[in-house]
This record gives sequence, structure tokens and C-alpha cells, in this order.
Amino acid sequence: LVAFLLFLFYLHEPIGQLLHAGSRLQIGLAAIRRLSEIETLPAERTGPAGAEPDTAGRREEGLTFSDVRFRYGPDRPEVLCGVSVDIPAVGMTAFVGPSGAGKSTLFGLVERFHEPDSGRILLDGRDLADWDLASLRADIGYVEQDAPLLSGTLRDNLVYGRPDATEEEIRDAVARTRLDTLVDRLPDGLDTAVGHRGNFLSGGERQRVALARALIRRPRLLLLDEITSQLDAANEMAIRDVVTTVAKTMTVIVVAHRLSTVTQADRIVVLDNGIVRATGTHDELLANDLLYADFAATQLLTGERDD
Ligand code: ATP
Repeated sequence: LVAFLLFLFYLHEPIGQLLHAGSRLQIGLAAIRRLSEIETLPAERTGPAGAEPDTAGRREEGLTFSDVRFRYGPDRPEVLCGVSVDIPAVGMTAFVGPSGAGKSTLFGLVERFHEPDSGRILLDGRDLADWDLASLRADIGYVEQDAPLLSGTLRDNLVYGRPDATEEEIRDAVARTRLDTLVDRLPDGLDTAVGHRGNFLSGGERQRVALARALIRRPRLLLLDEITSQLDAANEMAIRDVVTTVAKTMTVIVVAHRLSTVTQADRIVVLDNGIVRATGTHDELLANDLLYADFAATQLLTGERDD
């Protein structure tokens, strides 16, 4: 028995490393899946990036979660326990809440990487399950923390999801994401190589390139998953301003630990343990929700961050 216990003890670390590697692999696979989906997306839209989407013949009712329940497997705990939220077609909606509350899971459901166990998610009044998957995903722009860039030029990275983007559309997205000063500084402008996975660029610049790339695809819904969590205050502020402007013309949904990223959102949804605790503006939640007020006290007043 002692020998067996010793054996287990020695195995503990490699097994832990394997599990860790496994979870990183899963994250990596999700990113690859998203990139390969971007690659196969139809590139039918025209007009300047970020301009009013072409909505002819389409109702713009926004996104509705109606009593959505979800668990990652039959033996897993419920991650979303009856989430109901209405997200208007135009504006910025932010989901905040403790780690593990289910915020990123909501994005996975919107992109239909998973299906709800019960309840419905409606986009423009139509159940996501009834959407053609390719056209649904063509309508969604997703940007994550540490968004992957490709080796190649800045231009390659910008048009990755829409190789037929016009020069005007590229320039427009570059201006909207405040990348124009960077482009002016680079020796070959847009045609400058950005290094292996964009390592010639700063973290803030890489995030703005990812955002510009998403805008060039002219999505109907922009999902931003912790996109400022690794940025310094100046870069965070620059991205925040860009997002606020973009949200004037489309549905922007943000998941963030940092409240400073979301205080200007049109509405903030506080998610806790898979349950919507409260919804409101920053000021309303400060006044009415203890968890939110607590977050705010630790993050905004003392400058500490929950990430
Ligand atoms: P964080 O702020 O830390 O990113 P979150 O609020 O985004 O957290 P989720 O990532 O949605 O939370 O995770 C909610 C719960 O679901 C957590 O308990 C998490 O461990 C679990 N979970 C997330 N992804 C998976 C998965 N692919 N398989 C199994 N469980 C998962």
C-alpha cells in the first residue's frame, strides 16, 4: 500500500501537468475552431466597416435569453440556471460577475458551440437553433483576451476574415480603432510585417488589430471577452473609447472582470453562479446591488482589480 501511495504521489505532478495542458489544449482548439470558421465565412457585405449594417428586410430586435439553462455534461453542475436577459439591437451590454459565474459560457451559447439544455436564445426574434450556422457566425464578431494574430503583414491580419475588403473599409476600421498613428509610424504602413503572432506590436495594439479585423467583417453582434484585462490603463482607455463609439451602431456585448472597462455600458448585467442578480447602469447598480457595489469598492476606489 505504501509503495502504491508513493507511486501515486510521484504521479501527482505529471498528471496535474497533463490536466493543465489538456485545458490549455481545449482553449487552443476553441481558438483554432474560431479562426477556421472565420476563414470559411461568406464575405458578402460591402460598405465601410462599422457603418450601419445592411439591415434591409431584417428585423433588428436584438438578442434575448429566455430562461436559459445549461450544464457542460449530464454529471456537471448547472452553469446557467435560468438566465433571462434582453439585449437591445444597438448599444453596449456588459456582463460582470465573479470568476466561474458563467459569463463566457453565454458567448459559447450565442455562437452555438453549445446548445441550451432548456430555454431559448433569440436573435432578431428567431431562435438561434433556426439560424443557418454559417450565416449566424458570419453575423458575429468575437474578440478575446490575447486575440491570436498571424505572422504576415498588418494588412493580412486585418483582412483575414474578409479578403475582399476595400482599401476604404480597411482605412475606416484602422481609424476607428485608432491604429492610424501606428500605421503612419510603421516603415511599410499596412504592409509592414508584424512578426511571429504579431509580437512586433504591443498588447494594446494587437487587441486593436483584432478589434479592427472583427469590424472589417461587419458583424451584427460584437462579442468582446475580457479584451482589456491584460492592458495598461492608457490602452484600456483607448479600447474603451473605441468600443463605446462602435456600440452606437451595433449590438456590443462585453464580458469583463474590470469594472473600469464597463462603467459606461448602456446596461450592466451582474451574473453570479449562473443567475442574473441585477441589471442596470453603473450608477443604478452601485445604489442597488451589494455585490456590484462591493466590486466597485475594491476595484475602482482602491485601484485593485479582480483579474
Ligand atoms: P471567468 O470570469 O473566470 O472567465 P466566467 O464567468 O466566464 O468565468 P465560465 O467560463 O462561463 O465563467 O465558466 C462557468 C463554469 O463552467 C465554471 O465552473 C467553469 O469551470 C465551467 N466550464 C467552463 N467551460 C467548461 C468546459 N468547456 N467544460 C466543462 N466546464 C466548463
